[in-house]
Amino acid sequence: NRPLAEVDPEIAAVLRGELTRQQETLEMIASENVVPRAVLECQGSVLTNKYAEGYPGKRYYGGCEWVDVSEQLAIDRARGLFGGDHVNVQPHSGAQANAAVYHALLDPGDTLMGMALDHGGHLTHGMRLNVSGRLYRIVPYGVRRDTGLIDLDEVRDIARASRPKLIVAGWSAYPRRIDFAAFREIADECGAMLLVDMSHFAGLVAVGLHPSPVPYADVVTTTIHKTLGGARGGMIICREALARKIDSAVFPGQQGGPLEHVIAGKAVALRIAASGAFADRQRRTLEGARAIAERLLAGGDAVGVWSGGTDVHLVVADLRDTEIDGRQAEDRLADIGITANRNTVPFDPRPPMVSSGLRLGTPALATRGFGLPEFTELGDIIRIALSPAFEPAKDALRARCRELAAGFPLYEFLAAAGSEM
Ligand code: PLP
Repeated sequence: NRPLAEVDPEIAAVLRGELTRQQETLEMIASENVVPRAVLECQGSVLTNKYAEGYPGKRYYGGCEWVDVSEQLAIDRARGLFGGDHVNVQPHSGAQANAAVYHALLDPGDTLMGMALDHGGHLTHGMRLNVSGRLYRIVPYGVRRDTGLIDLDEVRDIARASRPKLIVAGWSAYPRRIDFAAFREIADECGAMLLVDMSHFAGLVAVGLHPSPVPYADVVTTTIHKTLGGARGGMIICREALARKIDSAVFPGQQGGPLEHVIAGKAVALRIAASGAFADRQRRTLEGARAIAERLLAGGDAVGVWSGGTDVHLVVADLRDTEIDGRQAEDRLADIGITANRNTVPFDPRPPMVSSGLRLGTPALATRGFGLPEFTELGDIIRIALSPAFEPAKDALRARCRELAAGFPLYEFLAAAGSEM
């Protein structure tokens, strides 16, 4: 029962260093968030010891009476929040959730239609090196060059011609809403099933700031740790008719024992997501992304914003016409204390390792307490950082970021408790 600092000082130093990094810098990776203390407590709890193959009330191990309670709470809360007939909270990650859905609904060689990675889709939607791209015949769709938006007529044409068994709607770097009703119609026209991967925007859906895909899709997958702000992991919502297939694809199809310490953290997050404070946070998340887009465009210089703005929690800065590429942009922001990630933009003239885009997300900072004034200031800071004025302004920008971070302290209880957690 010796503390971590004694048992393993090297790992303790990593935890301390990471805590300081999170406290002193501004997190703008769109897929990240900051979990509350209650979620940290679950994930660092004795539930990690428990094997619980199976589902609540139907386990292959004894001693599951307590984890049955938390897993059932997670399921019930998810249903309360999102609706849907059936929920599986066991996928270890978003990728596992999608793999389980494919496992349940497709046979190897079947046709899967998803948004191309370089147009904003996710690896698991058919990227060539991902298991989805290895097992299934992939038919990608993308966005239009002129509007930056998904062209539903094109999606319909591709679907008619390729007759997919499953269509995936969802994205990792697309700053607009998807028309779920139109995707449903297209799926019905060509006899396909529809999966909506709402990993990125689930938090917005939870509070009604984004339409819900649940009434339209056969299956909905999500992560719990992006806009939802909870424990790292995945979840599947499906129609009753698919419930058994989905459950058996998750376990024993894809996974063994569920991570019950994480599932408890998911339950906590789903409870918090039903609160007024969470709704306010999502409102600030959205408002913040709009402010960032607006401030980036305000300079009237070479930096663009993909599709001209955003309806969600992220902005894709378009650097195709700037001197700096995505990697340089990422480095400049890191230099002044902002963490973000470069991203290809559709029709990117630069190679993926360099790219011409920068994905900027507001969820973590909204959780930290940022509102419109702070996001507006941050938008101005980023605009200057991406412009030719960067070098002379660098020190001042770094100081402004440090001040913004200090104004919204993070995990103070950890320092107070002398724990790295
Ligand atoms: N689906 C989408 C749309 C995502 O953006 C992501 C993660 O970035 C995932 C699935 C995969 O989630 P995970 O990283 O938990 O496997």
